[in-house]
Parts: sequence; structure tokens; C-alpha cells
Amino acid sequence: MDTVLSGIRPTGNLHMGNYFGAVKNFLKMQHEYNCFFFIADLHSLTTHPTPTDLHDNVRKVLAEYLACGLDPEAATIYVQSDVPEISELYLLMNMNAYVGELQRTTTFKEKMRKQPDNVNAGLLTYPVLMATDILIHRATKVPVGKDQKPHLEITAKYARRFNQIYKVDYFPEPEAFNYGKDLVKVPGLDGSGKMGKSEGNGIYLIDDPKVIRKKVMSAVTDAGPTEPHQKMSDGVANLFTIMKIVSTPDMVKFYKDKYNACEIRYGDMKKQVAEDIVNYLNPIRERIQEIYADNDYLRKVVNMGAEKARESASKTLKDVREIIGFKPF
Ligand code: AMP
Repeated sequence: MDTVLSGIRPTGNLHMGNYFGAVKNFLKMQHEYNCFFFIADLHSLTTHPTPTDLHDNVRKVLAEYLACGLDPEAATIYVQSDVPEISELYLLMNMNAYVGELQRTTTFKEKMRKQPDNVNAGLLTYPVLMATDILIHRATKVPVGKDQKPHLEITAKYARRFNQIYKVDYFPEPEAFNYGKDLVKVPGLDGSGKMGKSEGNGIYLIDDPKVIRKKVMSAVTDAGPTEPHQKMSDGVANLFTIMKIVSTPDMVKFYKDKYNACEIRYGDMKKQVAEDIVNYLNPIRERIQEIYADNDYLRKVVNMGAEKARESASKTLKDVREIIGFKPF
């Protein structure tokens, strides 16, 4: 069975794009593969969060994923810093990573531009830690967005390099996990192509109904079609895309027919979309609040995750130490 690994950044809350574009797939995957999901709190240190923020962000993101249905019994869900084997393997992997190649990675160059006052060594070796996250469980499949593809290639390169240096066939080269036709792209309600955190157009899982209604009602549309079957403007097409995700097919057909007959009232459609989003997200939001407040449950989940992750990680680390030549006397 393939081992699948996915990292979760403890920054910000989940929006509908994250949920329908990534998390929903995790819910299926966790029953079909040997899945590891980890909260990348070591990675987040590159941006120097305060101790309070660091802990709270981990807690928030954990509560959200659990509320969505990630199952700690089915998958291994852990906090990266709870697994010290990762830090040791990271040190070992750093010895075979070259400064030149790290300086050339696009993400590093971007960070240098974005945070010129904080170009720390952790940023430079970020790809080594990412590779370590994957290699520590000898994962074979990694669900990645387009922007992360180069990191996966680097991981494959480090796996190959390690195998070549030590003349072993130890680390598998991980591949991108392909969602195929299940890949959903959630558009923004501001007429833009994508809902995203940095785009500032997100509907968040923790948004209460009033906030959701307000955001949907202000969605960008147009003056309305003037001839039957007119091509939709981006904003209207986006509204329909979101409706398809949260509403019934009958409801979508109703409004599509209205559009094609030039009888659509966008205000009515928005009200419908808002209610369907609210109904979809309400139980998730309530569950987030419940879990976030339940420290005993969260502690149980992270302890269980740490134990399972460490079991897998320590096996790899033991092998690697021996391969490298750290042999017991
Ligand atoms: P981010 O926190 O923006 O890096 O998003 C994490 C993951 O959520 C991405 O790798 C995507 O798989 C998914 N995602 C984010 N935004 C969207 C979106 N608008 N539509 C579909 N998937 C998305």
C-alpha cells in the first residue's frame, strides 16, 4: 500500500478552497492509503511567530482538520515538532544538500524578496526539511499543489543522491499524488479565478452565517444577460461554480435555465448560494468550536499521532544511521 504524506501549514484558517480542493480528498485518502498528515510547526519558525501564536495556530488548524473529518484512528495525524527524529534526519540530509542548488530554488528567491530582513538559514534549507518530512516515512505519494511541485522534485533528487552516495536502494522517489478528476478549484466571489487566503476573498469554515451571507451578497456579477444562452461573465460563472459545489443539481439547473432565458435575478441566486453554504458549513463550524475547546481530546489526538509517527520515523532513522556508518559498538 502506498504511504501518502501531506503537510499542513499552521497559518490562518481553512477556507472553502482548502476544504473542497484538498481536505475532502484527504477524507477519502485516509481510508485508502497509509496516510500521514502533519502540522508543520517547525517550518513555521522561519517567519518567527510568537510562542503564543505558534501554539494557538497549531491548535486551531488541528481542530479544523479534525472537525472536517480527518480521523486520527485511520490516519497518523501529528505535530512535526513532536517527532524529534525529523530534526535528526534533517541534519543528516543537510550534509548532502548543496548551498548553490538551495539558493536557486524559486521559493527561496521569493522569500528573499518578501522578507529581506529575515533571510535566515532555515529558509534556505526549507526544501531539505520538506524532503525530510517525506523521506522519514519513506512516503511514495505526496498530494501537492502546482506551486509545491519543485519541492517534490528536490525530494526525489535527495532520495536518489542518498541512494547513490551509499550505494543502497533505500529511499523511494516520491511522486505527486494525482487527484485526477476529483480536483476541484474553488473560485473567488470577487470575480477572480481562485479563492485564497492571500487573495483576501475567502469564505472560511469558521465564518458565522451572517458573515457568509454578507460575503456572498457582495459577490461580483454583471448587469444580466441580454440574449438567450449568452456567454457568462467571470463573476457569474464563478457564482455558478460555487453553487454546483454546495447546492443540489436541481437548484443549479433552475438558475441556469433562468440565466439562459434572461430572467435571472442574481440577488435571489446569491441568497440561495449563501443559504446552501451556511447549511453545508454550519455543522463543521460547530464541530470546530467544540474540538477547539476540548483540550483533553486534542491532547489525546496529538499523543496518539506522535506515537505512531515516531514508530515509523525511528525505524527510518535507525536504518539511515547504519547506512551512513553510525554503527553501534
Ligand atoms: P494554501 O493554504 O493556499 O497553500 O492551500 C492549501 C491547499 O488547499 C492547496 O495546496 C490546494 O490543494 C488547496 N486550495 C487552496 N485554495 C484552493 C482553491 N481556491 N481551490 C481549490 N483548492 C484550493
